[in-house]
Amino acid sequence: MAMDCIFCKIIKKEIPAKIIAETESSLAFMDAFPLTKGHSLVIPKTHYEKIQDISQKDNADLFETVRKVIAKVDKLTDATLVAVHNGKKSGQEVPHVHVHLIPRSPEDLVGPVHSMFSNRPKMSENEINQIYQKLKAD
Ligand code: 5GP
Ligand code: ZN
Repeated sequence: MAMDCIFCKIIKKEIPAKIIAETESSLAFMDAFPLTKGHSLVIPKTHYEKIQDISQKDNADLFETVRKVIAKVDKLTDATLVAVHNGKKSGQEVPHVHVHLIPRSPEDLVGPVHSMFSNRPKMSENEINQIYQKLKAD
């Protein structure tokens, strides 16, 4: 637990949240500042900052909770954006892993993932291969 983490406070029930589902190691609740109607979050109960920090057991529970809760969220509009900002520079504001479940519809005016980035990189074949080598190395 992190003392000044808003999500740890929700887990400890020190601040209220509209809880949708709770397991031994995960919690799902409605986002307090929803981007669309029904925007929800699923978090591990342990304070991990990034996905790669999560234990295998907690990760299995987290994504099983995502699987169960998304079935309900998806019923709202029949389409859901699932997003995780993994690290501060990616736009993560709360440094406690959270999976956004954001119901999507034509009303929200958001397009496919390629429409969210206006400054895409131009890469040489050499640069692509250098990144490929890094990604596939153990
Ligand atoms: P991030 O920007 O880190 O990806 O997402 C953090 C999310 O937490 C935001 O969507 C924000 O609206 C939500 N949030 C921030 N504070 C609270 C809170 O006190 N309660 C709840 N339920 N959601 C919060
Ligand atoms: Zn936390």
